[in-house]
Amino acid sequence: MVRQKEMIAAHFQRLSRAREEGRKVVYTFVPGNLTELMLAFDILPVHPEINALQAGMRKQSGEFIAEAERAGHSEDVCTYVKCDIGMLLKGNIGPTGEKLPEPDLLLLSYTGCFTFMKWFELLRERYRCPTAMLHVPYQGDGRIEPSMVRYVVDQLESEVVPKLESVTGKKLDLERLQGMLARSARAEDDLVWVLESAKNRPSPIDAYFGGVYYIGPIFTAFRGSPEAVDYYRALRAEVEERLARRLGPVTPEGELQQEKFRIVVEGPPNWTSFREFWKMFADEGAVVVASTYTKVGGVYDNGFRHDPSRPLESLAEYCMGCYTNLNLPSRVDMLARYVADYEADGFLINSIKSCNSFSSGQLMILREVENRSGRPGGFIESDLVDPRYFSAANIKNRLESYFQMIEQKRAGGAA
Ligand code: SF4
Repeated sequence: MVRQKEMIAAHFQRLSRAREEGRKVVYTFVPGNLTELMLAFDILPVHPEINALQAGMRKQSGEFIAEAERAGHSEDVCTYVKCDIGMLLKGNIGPTGEKLPEPDLLLLSYTGCFTFMKWFELLRERYRCPTAMLHVPYQGDGRIEPSMVRYVVDQLESEVVPKLESVTGKKLDLERLQGMLARSARAEDDLVWVLESAKNRPSPIDAYFGGVYYIGPIFTAFRGSPEAVDYYRALRAEVEERLARRLGPVTPEGELQQEKFRIVVEGPPNWTSFREFWKMFADEGAVVVASTYTKVGGVYDNGFRHDPSRPLESLAEYCMGCYTNLNLPSRVDMLARYVADYEADGFLINSIKSCNSFSSGQLMILREVENRSGRPGGFIESDLVDPRYFSAANIKNRLESYFQMIEQKRAGGAA
């Protein structure tokens, strides 16, 4: 956690010096991000949704959202967007207190959520900089066809790479990109090992609240860098040691002493009350053994790895494979598989008020996963970064009832 925070803070510092150091800056989103391609051009990426979640964790988001609503953005708009727009209207001071540089390019890898497109339209009006749009086909039939890979590669070749070349004044160095993709694959191997360590009893990790820190570097500005390789090697070594000593995960209250419930979670966490939310689970002895949120920036536990021998094809497959680009039956399959593979007692949906893209199918997901797994599902509601929609008492009540229900089912099963 400490090391991840240092890496992210160092990235914000680099961004604050970008102009004086002549570095180019590209704004882009986490799902379907083309980090290795940007790093191959020495570009610094900015992820607006990371700024928003960092602002949420630092209790700055409420004021930014209010600012965006005063400027006319409706209450129903995704709060990541409003937090970002509010921050921009207030001078674009990033979460660490340093000013964020304006973008030289907006790079939209369009994976699954229409809001991403509208969000960048708003930023484009403001910054008047060039835009590159990578249209990533939705996995409507639950698979990636060769024609879909070709379609994305064509756009990388004809749209994205030329725009990156034009912004930086450099030609793409394919060998350099391949070196980065090889490093990505190494980090991805270690990340998957860490996430799958939760199959043990007790689980040495929490794959949702702790998982946030595990995915930070690889989902943002570091995938493909030597720092990411080192980070995931160190993380794996730390978790290996916890496993050998049969230790449970570290929580805001210290080390979890007894694993009482093993839970799979769907949906992002709430950021404005992140530690309070986490503590509600830890107080009950509940460990999240798998989550879909830790797959929004790449699903690696299905075997996908970036492949330096097929650089652009593998970037295309990566973009199409992100969780945000999966259809509802694929999401149900994934959750039902997690419940079985991680021997979970149940699964829980944290439905996000302002995320229309992902909340719409969640009641169907709940029913389907319950039917298929035979394990009880729970449903709570909160928001990403709008503090008005985190009702601690309500959520705590629901969680307590949910864990009681699991206990009763267990007792019934044993009788
Ligand atoms: S996926 Fe949800 S949270 Fe992310 S941009 Fe779309 S609406 Fe907002």
